[in-house]
Amino acid sequence: MSEAVWKSCLDRLEGDLTPQDFNTYIGSLQAVVENGVLRLFAPNRYIRDEVEKNFVSCIESALERVGSGDDEGGSQGVERVVVEVGNPSQKTERPAENTRTSVQRPAAIDPNSGLQATFTFENFVTGYSNQIASAASKQAADNPDDPNCNILFIYGGVGLGKTHLMHAIGNHLLQGKSSEVIYRHSEQFVNEMVSAIQRKCIGEFAKFYRSVDALLIDDVQFFAGKERSQAEFFHTLNALFERKRLVVLSCDRYPKEIDGIEERLQSRFSGSGLPVFIEPPDREMRAEILYKKALAQGIDLPVAVQDWMAKEVHSNVRDLEGALNRVIATARFMKRELTVDLAKEALRDLLASQGRRASIENIQSVAASRLGIRVADIKSRKKTRPITRCRQIAMALARELTEHSLPEIGDAFGGRDHTTVLHACRKIKELRATDPKVNDDYRMLLRQLTS
Ligand code: ADP
Ligand code: MG
Repeated sequence: MSEAVWKSCLDRLEGDLTPQDFNTYIGSLQAVVENGVLRLFAPNRYIRDEVEKNFVSCIESALERVGSGDDEGGSQGVERVVVEVGNPSQKTERPAENTRTSVQRPAAIDPNSGLQATFTFENFVTGYSNQIASAASKQAADNPDDPNCNILFIYGGVGLGKTHLMHAIGNHLLQGKSSEVIYRHSEQFVNEMVSAIQRKCIGEFAKFYRSVDALLIDDVQFFAGKERSQAEFFHTLNALFERKRLVVLSCDRYPKEIDGIEERLQSRFSGSGLPVFIEPPDREMRAEILYKKALAQGIDLPVAVQDWMAKEVHSNVRDLEGALNRVIATARFMKRELTVDLAKEALRDLLASQGRRASIENIQSVAASRLGIRVADIKSRKKTRPITRCRQIAMALARELTEHSLPEIGDAFGGRDHTTVLHACRKIKELRATDPKVNDDYRMLLRQLTS
């Protein structure tokens, strides 16, 4: 019964989303309906976060349409959609915060490449902001045996194309002579390792990763604070380095700035590797991305709409893509022409919230300067009272004012665990009721960040 609902929902989503989004995010989900809750299982945290952030409303709307009447007999009373990491065989209920991170994999090691064929160099738009990263990626993909570049380290903010580039490299390598190319999100690497330890087959795990032709590991900031994983990863890198195999890593910041990562690993990242930075695209490039993404869907986006959207949506490529899909879907749905007016209507709420929403970075810098602390200290391991307090306040504000998940907030505060963020939020809530100074600081910052 539940499968039928999800299947009809998928048919509708396929029409609503770009093939790329559909295949990458929705296609990898497994669904179960239980007590009015549609539980969607994502293969890793990355997909989970993306689905949670960008697709839940599309899924809800598709469900509603399934429910509004046709042959399947309604949406089977689905009242809520929950996205978690794992697979449907783990049906036991867990507390909400736990389901976000606990993962059990069916086998210790997933032999699949993990590559997504839809991310290629051909559909990656290059421009001033990603010129070097893109050239270095192509170079690495063309010459994986080049002894001068064993480790390519791509770093930059969220939604700027790091993951896309890594898959593009992997897909390109597969067309050449490299046979075993493995892509993993760092969390998946960690989970597989933990599972291998539990199953007492860590030897196999090590052997598998040390014997590949090319290894692509995404979002290595996730290794922060995980010592056992770092040690294993370090040995993997060394083995691949000695065998002169290509390793591509991505990270949301420069290697030396990742707190909670052993020094030997950091210097491996930057010392024997080539760090390349991706910046946010400028307006001209944003317009080009819009044009090409629309074209990929067979739509000739009018120049005026391109220009207007490129001016208004300036956060990152992922948001740009989301905005474009929304505009296209609105035009289709309302059977109207793609004009600037239509785009304005379609993006009204999005732009309003973009204006209001503070970024974690902004929160950190405002909180630090108001409370007389350095931003670097907020992200550091320092634990003096004023620093800890300022860090906790900033975390609580990030929770309140942004849509980032607990793990993302933790990452932004020097790679801390999501439980630390949760603890900070509780602590600040408690202190605001008992300590007038904390309450005043918090309210003042809240006002400053939202006005
Ligand atoms: P990151 O890993 O840096 O957070 P992603 O690689 O997931 O970012 O990119 C987010 C979305 O934006 C993806 O759908 C990706 O295809 C798209 N994207 C990012 N940069 C570009 C680009 N230069 N050209 C085309 N698409 C891009
Ligand atoms: Mg990514």
